[in-house]
Amino acid sequence: MLFYLFSLGCKVNSYENDALRKSLLERGDEEANGPEEASLIVINTCSVTGKADQKSRQHIRKMRRLAPKAVIAVMGCYSELHADEALSMGADIVVGTSDRSKILGFVDSFRKDGKKIKDVEKNNRHEKYEEMGQMALSENARAYLKIQDGCDNFCSYCLIPFLRGNSRSRDKDETIAEAKRLSEAGYKELIISGIHIGMYGKDLGDGSYRLADLLKDILLACPKLKRLRISSLEESEIDDKFLDLLRDFPQIVDHLHLPLQSGSPTVLQRMKRHYDTPSFLLTLSKVRAIRPDIAITTDVIVGFPLESDKEWQETMDFCKKAKFSEIHVFPYSPREGTYSYTLKDTSPEVKEKRVHELLDLSNELRQAYEERFYGKKMEVLFEDFDERNSLCYGHTANYLLVKVASKRKLHGEILDVIYDKESAAD
Ligand code: SF4
Repeated sequence: MLFYLFSLGCKVNSYENDALRKSLLERGDEEANGPEEASLIVINTCSVTGKADQKSRQHIRKMRRLAPKAVIAVMGCYSELHADEALSMGADIVVGTSDRSKILGFVDSFRKDGKKIKDVEKNNRHEKYEEMGQMALSENARAYLKIQDGCDNFCSYCLIPFLRGNSRSRDKDETIAEAKRLSEAGYKELIISGIHIGMYGKDLGDGSYRLADLLKDILLACPKLKRLRISSLEESEIDDKFLDLLRDFPQIVDHLHLPLQSGSPTVLQRMKRHYDTPSFLLTLSKVRAIRPDIAITTDVIVGFPLESDKEWQETMDFCKKAKFSEIHVFPYSPREGTYSYTLKDTSPEVKEKRVHELLDLSNELRQAYEERFYGKKMEVLFEDFDERNSLCYGHTANYLLVKVASKRKLHGEILDVIYDKESAAD
């Protein structure tokens, strides 16, 4: 059977698709070049914002139009929330954010009797981590390693804890074994992924074995591994153990993504985030004392309900002071079922103006960060090859995108490159 996989949203979805790809290839199925020639299409959906819902809908409709005869299976956050809508738009099988490993059995059953399948109606708050396979298969020098699912935080704007359930950690030995297999298979960089990875270990045993312990054990078990990247971490979860790790293990790359969401103390309270602005700044200074060149990127939600001009200015001032190397800007999107949905939204005009202001600041900060490295020799892990233009692309450890002219695919190689205007690919 020819299959086509498509993923929207976060790195966890990409990981789940990789795991599914491996299972399909192992049973003898082949990957199609596009949806038109596939007889099975799996779409891993996202529901983090209203826009993500819309994109998920569009893709289900588009795939149905492109492949009228294919079996279409839909999984992920959007389908957890809108299973009936997904079925009405052309999906044959709808699975939510658990039981995704059953998807292949569902495909076989649908092919036999043609009966549509919906498997989302359950309470996943107390389920265990769902093991989805042994190995991520990104066609890449980098591989995702999923260590956790779900979240217990209930930030006031976020549906994720309702959609993904409580935080569940992957078994430590399973995780280390997968890291070893990936490293021995030649992957040079692992990206530690999950919905809220700083919660790793809270639900395991007595709760004392946490993220920093796991990362240390992975690094000790994988001497060939060159880079370990952490997809995202809350400021409040950077403890002394984690700082020790940054000091002792150069394989932990010079890049952390620490979501800020707002630089205003009162907005942070309304968001029900678990930190304040002084503690965020303190953490940044502790991290930079150990890694002065580290790239620190962040997410900011713009136009949160009731955000006043003063609160907005606090966010702008904070971002300047924090010197992030890039800011991912998200206009606030109300999600029904959350606390913030009940608060008065800011007007679209105000949101748009603030989005532009913050994007301009992000561009300035990014440029200033990049220029700090002009003329320096940097190690680049190559991942992509543009054969037509004879260009290879890769990332430095601090996540600067680099291009070099090459007729040969440098895929998976780590080479020294002088970083300058010419080699910078952003
Ligand atoms: S930490 Fe907050 S924003 Fe992040 S997934 Fe959990 S509830 Fe959502």
